[in-house]
Amino acid sequence: MTTPSPLLPAFARSELAFARGEGARLFTADGTSYLDFAAGIAVNSLGHCHPHLVAALKAQAETLWHVSNMYRIPEQEKLGARLVEATFADYAFFTNSGAEALEASIKMARKYHAAKGAPERYRLITFEGAFHGRTLATIAAGGQAKYLEGFGPKVDGFDQVPFADHEAVRAAIGPHTAGILIEPLQGEGGIRPVPPQCLRGLRALCDEHGLLLIFDEVQTGVGRTGKLFAHEWANVTPDIMAIAKGIGGGFPIGACLSTKEAGIGMTAGTHGTTFGGNPLACAVGNAVLDVVLAPGFLDHVNDVAGYAKQKLAALKDRHPQVIEAVRGEGLMMGLKVIPPVGDVVQALRKQHLLTVGAGDNTVRLLPPLVITRGDVDEALVSLENACREFETARASSTKGEAA
Ligand SMILES: *Cc1c(COP(=O)(O)O)cnc(C)c1O
Repeated sequence: MTTPSPLLPAFARSELAFARGEGARLFTADGTSYLDFAAGIAVNSLGHCHPHLVAALKAQAETLWHVSNMYRIPEQEKLGARLVEATFADYAFFTNSGAEALEASIKMARKYHAAKGAPERYRLITFEGAFHGRTLATIAAGGQAKYLEGFGPKVDGFDQVPFADHEAVRAAIGPHTAGILIEPLQGEGGIRPVPPQCLRGLRALCDEHGLLLIFDEVQTGVGRTGKLFAHEWANVTPDIMAIAKGIGGGFPIGACLSTKEAGIGMTAGTHGTTFGGNPLACAVGNAVLDVVLAPGFLDHVNDVAGYAKQKLAALKDRHPQVIEAVRGEGLMMGLKVIPPVGDVVQALRKQHLLTVGAGDNTVRLLPPLVITRGDVDEALVSLENACREFETARASSTKGEAA
């Protein structure tokens, strides 16, 4: 008999447990190796136990972990300055997670209008298929029934429109609208890219109506798509941006970045966090940036992503009964599949390739950004094997039907 788990059964966990990680590989206690194209859901941006991150974490652990935002935190100031330098932003507010970065973004947008004398402008327009986190406000922002169900009244202030529907956005703008919140490329929703002209259209609508444009780059950020941030592909900038996942490389850290103007309402005492931006987290964030901002790093991401894209397109052509479409940007890749996505993720696990399921029956491939073409080739062997397995199963079931 198995002992009852002390853990709240809120996750549908696999039986797998890993003991060790190195680069793009994870190892179980018995030494079995898996190629990690999940990267803790786009978190382990530099793979497992990257030597530079390990060194930074160890050095900071022996110096100072936590002091509170009552004091100046040099590591936080340095990380903030680097993020500001590399983006549209003038300010950074550090958090421990993506959802908290979104909460800060949502509060900032509301407070901005309040500070401008229009507190009635508190509503954000969001999009179908969106995912912004699991707090009460972010499940309301995401608007997915399965996450809202049973948790009481939905937090007010979010108006959802169909994905990438410019006219619906225009029609949804009213006297209470504060801004527009969007992922430049939907992650949980199934690796659905927002067309660049749509992002530019949203920027124009915000400028026309005095609204704030908020990008959720929690999953797309920090080099994942081949640019430091995905919105750079569309050549538009937001007023506020939430980041997390990749910036910590596995250490929990997020941030709300904003222009000076968007931050006008967030004066001392209006928002806070105990842990956010502590020395330990920021030391690791700085170490991640040391690598991601180094010359040539994003070129590597784009090179290996281009290679993977070609290989995946050829795979789809060979297996049209399993793979319906290949999509994504950079190393944020999705395979829209025909068998149930959970079955495909499971079949790939059996082939020792780790991936993540997403909405729209899509398998997400989110490898560490440091993978090589050789790793892509290895993943393709697993993908090929899994596709064949589904075709064989399908062929024998149709034979059964005919008989
Ligand atoms: C993961 C994710 C979040 C939530 O981040 P947590 O760290 O889990 O709170 C929000 N938005 C997007 C786009 C995400 O991918």
